[in-house]
Amino acid sequence: MSCAFALDHYRELLEAARAGGYRFATFDAAPGPGDLLLRHDVDLSLDAALRMAELEADAGVAATYFLMTQSVFYNLASTEGVAALSGLRSLGHRVGLHAVYPDALLDERFDPVVAWHNPDPEYMTAPIDGAVNVMQPGWFDPASYRSDSNQRWRSGCPHEELRAGAFPWLQLLTHPEIWVYEGATMGETMRSMLDAERERRLAQLAEDRIDLA
Ligand SMILES: [Zn+2]
Ligand SMILES: [Zn+2]
Repeated sequence: MSCAFALDHYRELLEAARAGGYRFATFDAAPGPGDLLLRHDVDLSLDAALRMAELEADAGVAATYFLMTQSVFYNLASTEGVAALSGLRSLGHRVGLHAVYPDALLDERFDPVVAWHNPDPEYMTAPIDGAVNVMQPGWFDPASYRSDSNQRWRSGCPHEELRAGAFPWLQLLTHPEIWVYEGATMGETMRSMLDAERERRLAQLAEDRIDLA
């Protein structure tokens, strides 16, 4: 099995987790034995989030998507943003806030769960009033955490450990863009995303009645 950062392997990860006896859990309660929390921080692309969300729904699993209200890359208040939110919900997923410190303003769009974007150590694990911080004690433990940040697993791809049921529980953080767009490195993957983005932007310009002749 190749541990590519590609949707095919993401599906294999989900299958491995199922084979390992894990239960797909949400952040409502602190994880217990056998729980797998699928966490997606959506930093760059709502399109990528929806593609991953469709794959998960097809595999019969639910995840939690953390969306930003202060992203440089997408606008949650746009028609596209509103459609992405309802799309994720209708596929059976949860939606939390991917917040930029110190603003953790939750409104009716979000479940009361927050993941800080690029957090500093001073506040990373601190509890938040009225919401679960995904990195607070009880929800986060370094031994039960894996992240694909910058297209690199610091402790290796977790598929074998999942299949073997080796984690007591796991919070698995994956960024949809990394799995949806092709590339052997983060740099290549980002360039693939930008190529796709160019086509999407051209379609949006036409939609906005811009003369592209
Ligand atoms: Zn793997
Ligand atoms: Zn982030």
